[in-house]
Amino acid sequence: MKMRIYLDHNATSKLQPFVKAAMMEAMDISGNPSSIHFDGQNARKLIENARKAIVNSLGTYSAELIFTSGATEAAQLALESAKAMGFEVAFIGAAEHPAIMAYAKQLFENTVVIPVDGDGNIDCDWLEAQLAQAQNSAQKPFVAVQAANNEIGIINPMSKISGIVKNYGAALMVDAVQAFGKMPPNDYAGFADWLIISPHKIGGPLGVGALLLAPGIEGARNRPGGGQEKGFRSGTQNIPAIHGFGVVTVLAGDVTEFATNARAHRDEFELQIMINWPDAVIFGQGANRLPNTSCFAIPNWSAEHMVIALDLAGVSISSGSACSSGSVKSSAIMLALKITEQLAKCAVRVSFGWNNSGYDVEKIVSTMLDADMRRRSAAA
Ligand code: PLP
Repeated sequence: MKMRIYLDHNATSKLQPFVKAAMMEAMDISGNPSSIHFDGQNARKLIENARKAIVNSLGTYSAELIFTSGATEAAQLALESAKAMGFEVAFIGAAEHPAIMAYAKQLFENTVVIPVDGDGNIDCDWLEAQLAQAQNSAQKPFVAVQAANNEIGIINPMSKISGIVKNYGAALMVDAVQAFGKMPPNDYAGFADWLIISPHKIGGPLGVGALLLAPGIEGARNRPGGGQEKGFRSGTQNIPAIHGFGVVTVLAGDVTEFATNARAHRDEFELQIMINWPDAVIFGQGANRLPNTSCFAIPNWSAEHMVIALDLAGVSISSGSACSSGSVKSSAIMLALKITEQLAKCAVRVSFGWNNSGYDVEKIVSTMLDADMRRRSAAA
């Protein structure tokens, strides 16, 4: 079979071999971590070691970590916690993932969308003005912002945003799903009252995530069931996945190697795009972005057509946000950027990961050139 080239790591990544090996070992553990016998305690040890490894590698030593089934569940528990703590106004970034935006709108009567600037960054001046005004209201506000965007990779200035939020006595929820393992933890982890992460974008397991709670953050500890994860998330924990999460986290503490390699591939790829398609628009190119992410549009070459043409030639990329995939519609950030609908329909995302090489860059560029030639001759 022809080797496929996988360039959709912001959707999910291939399991790293060292993580797979660790998970296979954990599969042999038979105890329920809530049982008090030897086998149960063996299982519990793996959970507690993973909890410690994650908190330590992020430098969030005083946080309480709750394991969940993924980032979506973690985000929704965070929103429920905010509500239970009496926060009544939800300020949500315009480009947030639907796991947060849609659930916030469902949960809070008062949800305010924070606009983003032309690069996709949170409009900090707007946020500050709104929070200043909210000080005079009886309703307590909280703010939910992503550390890095899944589609164009734009990085929000978390230190600045956190300063504004704290200055006005509000609380901060940070979706760090795309930041985890791609950005230094100092740039996102310490600022959050609620921090949401999951390991499957960097070669960790699917179906597991975590919510980290800063000291003093409470609420919503009443999920009916066995009371696991201190009542936040009842249900017997997924031991192999949690163990794999703990093991892959070593990569999140120091991202230097990943960032250097991914940036080299991404920058070479974008250079080739600019040379071969001078009218291409690369979103957020001059802004602070994740090192592995390139989102661009070649005018009049629809994302749908490009993704299918590349797929048929053995290259996987994404159009729109793969998190809401299946449909090829303009994503939250494209709408927030206020670009024309026509250009948004041409936006595709290439995201590099731990197992890509320079060969993959050559291969995607040559595949795109072939596909473009066929497209043009068909149109002629
Ligand atoms: N937040 C961001 C920024 C994401 O990119 C994703 C998924 O890709 C999620 C949240 C939801 O993660 P999951 O589908 O793993 O629950």
